[in-house]
Amino acid sequence: MAEPVVLPFEHLYSTLPEPLWVATQATPVSSPELIAFNASLAHELGAKEIPDSETLAQWFSGNQLMPEAKPGALGYAGHQFGNFVPQLGDGRALLLGEVIDQNGIRRDVQLKGSGRTPFSRGGDGRSPLGPVLREYLVSEFMAAMGIPTTRALAAVTSGERVVRQMAEPGAVFTRVASSHIRVGTFQFIAARRDEQALKALADHVVERHYPEAASAEDPYLALLEAVVARQAVLIARWMSVGFIHGVMNTDNCSIAGETIDYGPCAFMEQFDPQKVYSSIDQGKRYAFDNQPAIAQWNLARFAETLLPLMNEEGEALVEQATDAIHRFEPLFSAEQRRLHADKLGLAAGSDQAVPLMEALESQMHHGRMDMTATFDALTQYASSLSDEHREALLALTTQPDELSTWLDTWQQEQVVNQDGERFTAMRHANPVIIPRNHRVQEVIDAAYDGDFSPFHTLLAVVTKPFDESVEARRLAAPATENEQVLRTFC
Ligand code: AMP
Ligand code: MG
Ligand code: MG
Repeated sequence: MAEPVVLPFEHLYSTLPEPLWVATQATPVSSPELIAFNASLAHELGAKEIPDSETLAQWFSGNQLMPEAKPGALGYAGHQFGNFVPQLGDGRALLLGEVIDQNGIRRDVQLKGSGRTPFSRGGDGRSPLGPVLREYLVSEFMAAMGIPTTRALAAVTSGERVVRQMAEPGAVFTRVASSHIRVGTFQFIAARRDEQALKALADHVVERHYPEAASAEDPYLALLEAVVARQAVLIARWMSVGFIHGVMNTDNCSIAGETIDYGPCAFMEQFDPQKVYSSIDQGKRYAFDNQPAIAQWNLARFAETLLPLMNEEGEALVEQATDAIHRFEPLFSAEQRRLHADKLGLAAGSDQAVPLMEALESQMHHGRMDMTATFDALTQYASSLSDEHREALLALTTQPDELSTWLDTWQQEQVVNQDGERFTAMRHANPVIIPRNHRVQEVIDAAYDGDFSPFHTLLAVVTKPFDESVEARRLAAPATENEQVLRTFC
């Protein structure tokens, strides 16, 4: 009997010129076992019947090719910490194909950790279990927050060891993305000076992600402007929940405007604008507050690749592209102002959103306050204006007198007491829980001992980030001094 077609794959990207897509097979693993499968995402992708765990483990480890899949590794380049590397590519990932989801959107399905590819260089093509669990938890949390992101479809242990700082259990992660096209994909083709391939790639992106650009006077300028706009919104949303990506290299900057490549990422705990968690970011290039400037720098690299396709020439061309990059700032600020108003429970468009937020950030920084706990407590206080909730909030700072003064000013502006819709917006801007470093580390430690129940428990609560259950509150609590995880690794 033929196997059921679970995901009806198409292969549009594979029609682009090599080496954007290079046919590559997965390398089987010894004994795959399913950790998790995201059935609701599978349904969103059009899956009707979900096979048993054994079959899923075979498919999502790469041991058996899914029906209609056509695996390939994607070529791309990238600036890593500011240095250009002309060839990176999928060194441990395989695109299985694309599916058209229930909303008519084409989405990539990719295995990560499925073995060596023509782009592996010195790497083993594998993933340790820890980063797979982190990506699963964090990307599904981001999705639950409505922040554009790649998604987690499946995680499978391989039964094999991979050697990093030490030998660790191996795993394969299945990622779903609007596409895996990065700024680095354009840099890859631009560096090869292949204008035909560049045009084919840009046209693919316009058709797939920005169809409205096709009818613009200069479609490639319109493409640049559209990507700038999506990145500006994305970075503002990251920062509204304290997200620090950690490796904003141009190869980790999605043209579709999704968060991609969860490596040493982390959420800010005690508020500090210069916060860095990644062990590989010694120069603090990707610190919390630098993220908008870095995104803009990445977009400037994207603009450079598009120049040969644009209509204008000479100085006018450069000026036009520069203007497009500079549109990042007002778009970022507008989105940030909107998010600030939501987080503070102010009227949409309030001119107090920015000054009040700046003052609160200063309070959080100097009062050593946990960012998520602060906004959660403020949300609870906004709902009741009770002494009890006010005290709970003031207990979070080392400078309660200063915060109390700020609260009095804020109280004159907040509107959630008169406006249920505004309160909903406030609650949805301020999660009860984020995937905290120490909780993610706890999950990984338990999994390395063979116990996946903490993973499933944490996944269940971070994917309902506004629920105020007892379990959520327990797992939401900031780390104690002893529990703190101050460094993250890829
Ligand atoms: P990342 O830091 O995950 O964004 O990866 C940067 C580059 O290194 C990409 O080209 C990856 O495909 C490649 N890479 C990372 N880990 C491995 C590995 N274990 N084997 C082969 N290539 C890898
Ligand atoms: Mg990457
Ligand atoms: Mg990565």
